[in-house]
Parts: sequence; structure tokens; C-alpha cells
Amino acid sequence: MKIKEIFDQKKVVFSFEVFPPKGGMTIEKIYNTIEEISSLGGDYISVTYGAGGSVRDNKTCEVSSLIKNKHGIEALSHLTCINSTKNNLDQIINQLKDNNIENILALRGDIPNNGEIYGDFKYAYELINYLKEKGNFGIASACYPEGHYQCENIDEDIKRLKEKVDSGVDYLITQLFLDNNIFYNYIDKLNKNGIYTPIEAGIMPIINKKQIETINTLCGATIPDKFIKIINKYEHDKEALRDAGIAYAVEQIVDLLSSGVKAIHLYTMNNPYVAKKIVENISSILKSVNE
Ligand code: FAD
Repeated sequence: MKIKEIFDQKKVVFSFEVFPPKGGMTIEKIYNTIEEISSLGGDYISVTYGAGGSVRDNKTCEVSSLIKNKHGIEALSHLTCINSTKNNLDQIINQLKDNNIENILALRGDIPNNGEIYGDFKYAYELINYLKEKGNFGIASACYPEGHYQCENIDEDIKRLKEKVDSGVDYLITQLFLDNNIFYNYIDKLNKNGIYTPIEAGIMPIINKKQIETINTLCGATIPDKFIKIINKYEHDKEALRDAGIAYAVEQIVDLLSSGVKAIHLYTMNNPYVAKKIVENISSILKSVNE
């Protein structure tokens, strides 16, 4: 099933993101994690793609297949294109087809620290066009409520996003944000630029200080004062910080749903406990908005 159809059928879509086992770990190491997250009632689960890894070592397809073919939940396989040749991409695309994976999140991928780029594609829109030639996939794409970190400014980034949207994506998923007003302003700007594609709000529960450091280095999302206060207060109490992070994410989701947002993507960080707590807190709300 194309995820687009889920968007057409449901008033509000709720999904999860997981990542494949890292390093040399086998997929069995995350069987339980995937099983637990699959049992939480999400509409689909997306699986990240380790940019720069070899085709042979890549486990995105294997995890997507586990989700779709064992747990019966639609899967969205992430796929990046820089530092990949058409030949490499073809191998992955064929693996996905062989495993009945019908949905791809088409991404460029981050430029490596040494700045070296090779391969046949420079931007995500080129991958979107290529995937359209290669098969009948449902295609999603990424967007950045505070602008992509390499783009001069948000207006320029939105112009680039328009090119991706015009290449024909079914829907967009946002990078994480910790201040809902940033998301609401972004939607206004997108609409003013003629972008009305369905958008899933990406929510990441921040439950430890290390995640804040990763956010700073990887995506530069604004960290609101309200959140800094939480970190400063509970940084030495693991459980308190975890619970405060869960409560913060729940508050964000409740506000988004109350404001009429139609889709939420939860970055689970492969933590079923946290995902479960969030689902428990919003299940009656999700039921209500879907009635
Ligand atoms: P693009 O849309 O190609 O944009 C990249 C930059 O180029 C932007 O600054 C854009 O403004 C600019 N640009 C676009 N088109 C042009 C053009 N024609 N001329 C000049 N400039 C242009 N990374 C992974 O490695 N694996 C993952 O699984 C993964 N999952 C992600 C999931 C989500 C929801 C998000 C938001 C990001 C994810 N990323 C992942 C990170 C992503 O790969 C990086 O943010 C990457 O740097 C940009 O990817 P993109 O597809 O948005 O690129």
C-alpha cells in the first residue's frame, strides 16, 4: 500500500521512525525493539538509511521488510543519493522491490566531514526523478521548518523545496522542532509559496543531554528557553530528564493535534519505552481526532 492512501483514508496519520542496527550488529539485536514499536498502533514505520555505507552492509531494507512482511505494518525506507552511483542505487531499489517495499523517503544525505562528494546525484530532487523512472513507489521527502543548515536562508530553502515538491512527492516529513510556533510559521510560508503537500510534523522526545549536542551539531534546531530550563534542572537525574522529555513531546503533540495538524512522525530513537509512554498519553486524543 502507498502511504499516500493512508493519508487519504485517515483524518490524522501517526507514524514512527526507527534505525537499523549499527556497526556490525545483526538485525536480531533489534527484533524486540521492532516488535514492541510495531505493536503500538502506528500507521506506518520509517527506517533510516546509513549514508555512505556499502550496499551489502545496508540493513534498511531488511528492517523495512521485517516491519512490513512480519509485522504487517506499512514501511517507509529512507534512501540517500550522494556518494552513491546509479548502480549502487539500482541494487537497493531492486532489493526494495523484491521485498515488496512500496514507499521511499528520498533524501540527498549529509555531505561527509571531508567534503568529498562523488556519484551521480547532487540533490534529493534528482533521486525523486530517478525513482519515478525506476518503479511505482510512493515517495516522501524531507523539509526543514528552520531552513536546511546549508541553505542561505529559509526563503531560498523553500524555493528548493518547491522544486522537490514539483518533482512529485506524496508528502513531506519535517526535521524535528521543539517550538510549535516555528512549525506553524513554516506552514504559512509554504502555503504562501504555493506548497500545500501534506506535511508530517517530526517530533523527537529529548530524553538525554547527548541528544541536545547531536541536535546542535547536526541540524541546529532552536532549543527554547523552556526546554533549556528542563535540561539544566534534571541533567543529573536520568529518569527525571527522561520523564520531562516525554512530557514535553506529549505537550507538543497535543498542541499540534488541537491546532488541526494532520500527521505526526515520532522519532523513536529505537526506544520502545519512550514511544509507548507517548502513545499511552495521546491515544484517546488520537482516537478523538480520527473520529
Ligand atoms: P536536498 O533537498 O537535496 O537539499 C539539500 C540542500 O541543498 C538544501 O540546503 C537545499 O536548500 C539545497 N538545494 C536543493 N536543491 C538545490 C539546487 N537545485 N541547487 C542548489 N541548492 C539546492 N540522512 C541520512 O543520511 N539518512 C536518513 O535516513 C535520513 N533521514 C532523514 C529524515 C528526515 C525526516 C529528515 C528531515 C532528514 C533526514 N536525513 C537523513 C538528513 C538529510 O539527509 C540531510 O538533512 C541532508 O543534508 C539533506 O537532505 P535533503 O534530502 O533534504 O536534501
